Amino acid sequence: MSELVIEGLRAAVDGQEILTGVDLTVRSGEVHAVMGPNGSGKSTLSHVLAGRPGYEVLGGSVRIDDVELLSLPAWQRAEAGLFLAMQYPTEVPGVALRDLLRASARTSDDADEIEEAMLAEAARIGFGAKFLERPLNVDLSGGEKKRNETLQMGVLRPAFAVLDELDSGLDVDALRLVSSRVEEATEEDGLGVLAITHYSRLFQELRPDVVHVFAGGRIQETGGPELATELETTGYERWVEPAAAKASAATLPDDPFADPLA
Ligand code: ADP
Ligand code: MG
Repeated sequence: MSELVIEGLRAAVDGQEILTGVDLTVRSGEVHAVMGPNGSGKSTLSHVLAGRPGYEVLGGSVRIDDVELLSLPAWQRAEAGLFLAMQYPTEVPGVALRDLLRASARTSDDADEIEEAMLAEAARIGFGAKFLERPLNVDLSGGEKKRNETLQMGVLRPAFAVLDELDSGLDVDALRLVSSRVEEATEEDGLGVLAITHYSRLFQELRPDVVHVFAGGRIQETGGPELATELETTGYERWVEPAAAKASAATLPDDPFADPLA
């Protein structure tokens, strides 16, 4: 049993504070949904957790068990058990998915075992083996990129996966395969999941234990799975308005015609 513990996490980009104090604990096997409007800082959270350069951490802590991740480079966070499925997966010309996985899999001394795992994972999510040869994410459709991310998760078997809008770009059939694969990992391997999304459709196969409403750079409310369905009908206005009002009170806009919510 492991724990991913996020405490008082604050971070800025370009001198502007985006994460304003995130507190969240995910245990092995649990699925936490993080749902919130556009621009609320969800992807910033995923990037700061994974160690993407360009963000200034202003305070707080992110740990997997006793390992503090914030002082580590991205690859050591991955070694500690953290995986990020990116909202916009990076294209890497010249590096095939197969090469990437051979270089990064834990069982990297056994090439046959990795090959077997790659083929098995591709089949589980209805992904053609030809994608193993293709340069990473180059000229892939949105949905193919998301399956690519899911395949990597399946082969690398992290302790915790942050899934940033894994559902975007997937058609209904692919969505079912991908979200079932993640659900199975929670049951088979005890994977802990932080699933960031706008939509409850991700949560038909993947069953959230806890749902968090994320707005204004932090968690505003936490509830059970029913909260995901409620948000689908009510939207996020209830949480967006106070956050936006606070932001506009704090700073005078340079452009008086600017959208105050942008
Ligand atoms: P979400 O994923 O919830 O839609 P993001 O985390 O992508 O939101 O963005 C949160 C806010 O941070 C937005 O206002 C966005 O414009 C801003 N932001 C994100 N990255 C940068 C960056 N590199 N430079 C400046 N602003 C950024
Ligand atoms: Mg985002």
